[in-house]
Amino acid sequence: MVDFTLTPRDEELVNLAREDAAISRKYARYYDQHHELLEPVELPEAKERPDPYALLQEDATGTSGPVVTQSLLHLEYPDVRLRRDSNRFLGTKIIAYAGTAEQVERFGHLLLSIAITEPGAGSDPRAMVGSARYDEAADEWVLNGEKIYCSGFGEAAGAVVMLRGAPDEHGVRPFYSFVVEKGSPGLQVIGQVDKMGMRAWDTADFVLQDCRVPSVNKLNADFKRTLMVFNGSRAMVTAFGLKTARNMLEMVHDNLLKDGNAIDYGRGRNGRSAVHDRVIALEAWHDATKLLILHAKWSEQKQGVTDEGTMVEAAMAKAMGGMAARRITQECMDLLGPLALMEEFLAEKWFRDARIFDIFEGAGEINRLIIARWLLDYSSKDLN
Ligand SMILES: Cc1cc2nc3c(=O)[nH]c(=O)nc-3n(C[C@H](O)[C@H](O)[C@H](O)COP(=O)(O)OP(=O)(O)OC[C@H]3O[C@@H](n4cnc5c(N)ncnc54)[C@H](O)[C@@H]3O)c2cc1C
Repeated sequence: MVDFTLTPRDEELVNLAREDAAISRKYARYYDQHHELLEPVELPEAKERPDPYALLQEDATGTSGPVVTQSLLHLEYPDVRLRRDSNRFLGTKIIAYAGTAEQVERFGHLLLSIAITEPGAGSDPRAMVGSARYDEAADEWVLNGEKIYCSGFGEAAGAVVMLRGAPDEHGVRPFYSFVVEKGSPGLQVIGQVDKMGMRAWDTADFVLQDCRVPSVNKLNADFKRTLMVFNGSRAMVTAFGLKTARNMLEMVHDNLLKDGNAIDYGRGRNGRSAVHDRVIALEAWHDATKLLILHAKWSEQKQGVTDEGTMVEAAMAKAMGGMAARRITQECMDLLGPLALMEEFLAEKWFRDARIFDIFEGAGEINRLIIARWLLDYSSKDLN
């Protein structure tokens, strides 16, 4: 039986995160317009305030558990973070579950992004051409490839990079993952990508040209084991996207209130205006997505991030959430009318921001394929 009641400690931490988001909102437009800048490590206001993520990490007693309560904090995702949080780095998470004791010791403390996408390989990583060759004499791997849209790479110490080795006896090129630290010979950072939305989101490209890394940097993580990290992060980014949608819904509500046109939820459908009906339908989408996120995180907390059930639940949350973020923000643009397009407000920014949540970490179509394969017991070869 799943109980979605928040504990008093959950409430406390969520309120802190909510207040943080309200405080940092005044910086939202600045970082939207200055997307060449990364968010600062800390905004001035952070100094006087406790960090809810750190408090949870230190002691999860009295909460709904470290994973579930963290997702409640993700649901309060701000336009600009009051302080950067290190627990979002997917490469670091891969080290935690796939690294040997030596690798955990060497790399476990580093902020590491994940670099899979290449110019011709996004939704289908199997199309990747980046290569890895073992140099036995030097006991090093020689890496070549171009990696794009790498989240967090501007701030990170490096990335876990997925590449393909030489063909085996069946002509199949295996997938390997390596830790590539900044400063490695042959790693060239291209820089930040200009984006339509989520402009404060650190996203960088880089090139590997005969980049050499010691053999200890090769992880015991093939295609499946590397991509497992998304079982945890899909619901997390969905929570970020849902917050963007909720910002829009709150703006619509404020506007209705201002016009003396507050929604009366007690009225039946026939007694409501079409506008109120639309808002209520959007709120239902929002709430259903939130429950899916919490259910996925509950499953992760119980069964672990590598569990197949967790994988499917995360894909469900992401498929639904990507669509919800798009649909809610789009319809709120309609409901807000001209206000939606005024720079004085953030609606048009949230509308732009929402789009990415149905693209990265598996676009909606890809997450629906994952769900369908599981339901129908098809392999990725059968259904792609
Ligand atoms: C801000 C940002 C941050 C990112 N962060 C990272 C990161 O940290 N690490 C990383 O490796 N990558 C990252 N990415 C890359 C992201 O994961 C890819 O953009 C995404 O996987 C989509 O790939 P693509 O852009 O090549 O689009 P495509 O794969 O070309 O997809 C285009 C469209 O076709 C649809 N489509 C594709 N294949 C199918 C199919 N088989 N059936 C039905 N429809 C299909 C897709 O759903 C999509 O709508 C990031 C991207 C952005 C924009």
